Amino acid sequence: MDSERILTQLRAEGYEISPQYQDADLVVVNTCGFIDEAVQESLDAIGEALAENGRVIVTGCLGAKAGAAGGNLITETHPKVLAVTGPHATQEVMQAIHRHLPKPHDPFLDLVPEQGIRLTPRHYAYLKISEGCNHRCSFCIIPSMRGDLVSRPIGEVMREAESLVKAGVKELLVISQDTSAYGVDIKYRTDFVNGRPVRTRMTELCEALAALGVWVRLHYVYPYPHVDEVLPLMASGKLLPYLDIPFQHSHPDVLKRMKRPASGEKNIERVAAWRAICPDLTIRSTFIVGFPGETEAEFEHLLEFLQAAQLDRVGCFTYSPVDGAAANALANPVPEEIKLERLDRFMRLQETISEARLRRWVGRRVRVLIDGVDADEGQLIGRTTADAPDIDGVVRISPDPNSRHPIPAAIGEFAMVDIVDSDAHDLHAIYFKGDKQ
Ligand code: SF4
Repeated sequence: MDSERILTQLRAEGYEISPQYQDADLVVVNTCGFIDEAVQESLDAIGEALAENGRVIVTGCLGAKAGAAGGNLITETHPKVLAVTGPHATQEVMQAIHRHLPKPHDPFLDLVPEQGIRLTPRHYAYLKISEGCNHRCSFCIIPSMRGDLVSRPIGEVMREAESLVKAGVKELLVISQDTSAYGVDIKYRTDFVNGRPVRTRMTELCEALAALGVWVRLHYVYPYPHVDEVLPLMASGKLLPYLDIPFQHSHPDVLKRMKRPASGEKNIERVAAWRAICPDLTIRSTFIVGFPGETEAEFEHLLEFLQAAQLDRVGCFTYSPVDGAAANALANPVPEEIKLERLDRFMRLQETISEARLRRWVGRRVRVLIDGVDADEGQLIGRTTADAPDIDGVVRISPDPNSRHPIPAAIGEFAMVDIVDSDAHDLHAIYFKGDKQ
């Protein structure tokens, strides 16, 4: 989102964007400082930009990070960068750019599409509803880099959503650090959506987005009680039946050590109740194994949770200490080989669950959104309501062997397909017909 805002502003002011270091007068590097690998990757990217171009401005989370000598990590590592700003600092980045590369005289304002410049394909877009987080999970340094929760007023979010839909977007992916907490910082203040008073709150936002008639997918939802309010919208097909809920663990003591939000919720019962309302609900989650102090019994609790919850899509990481995170000081770190062994047991169990969950789709005729083409295989690549782009699986769509007509490669369009097979991650389908046929 930050990159997109900066790109939009640059284009609005008449700057041209170059994909090559050599053709650029200046390079802007947007960094991430969340995990140590990302820090190294960002520092390497800055080094590469300095070597290839030499005139570099750095922005993003890493810009706010202190270095070993107590100064700024980036200027300590790469003293030649022209300027450094922290995250969400579009205006500061623009000021630095103006200083080092003055604005072109004749800005082609009309070249900027109404919805701005997006990095995602034209048919889906991320909609950021808030920034920062009021929680203090012990393994996470996002609040120290991005600050407490700041929600965008619902009127502003809806204006952006409407303009994206007007520009042809078919799927909106709602993102934030804590989607369930939307509006809590501004006491769910009432704002105006097309002249109508609406509270800045998750349920009201979902209702407003559902009325736009496109796919709306919710990410980073914590299982607070009010999440139940959006399930009827999912059951009636107005909101995608999809919840991305980062549970991270199941054992109450581990969750306490992690200082996780909503850790007291009875998650198995909640999942069962949601599925009773909306049987097609897809639940995606992420987990950490080998968190400091995790005992074999606590880990087995997690495996039992997985077995009982039957989640559809799951990612799992071994705990890795992040510079500056409170969890680093916790007692009894888990040895690396035990972490890896637990990861393996976790993934083997989840693979059988994911496989069984996906098999339920075989034999159904479903609507998919076409993302692309695999020319080598002669297939279209699409997604059902159960697949978020980039993180979940895909549907590989082949032509009907009994039809003499080639399938139209209508990227960004919906189509109906017949699911004929599945594996641990993806579905396989035969094309039936496109929305426009
Ligand atoms: S909820 Fe926890 S993990 Fe997520 S951003 Fe906030 S502090 Fe970090």
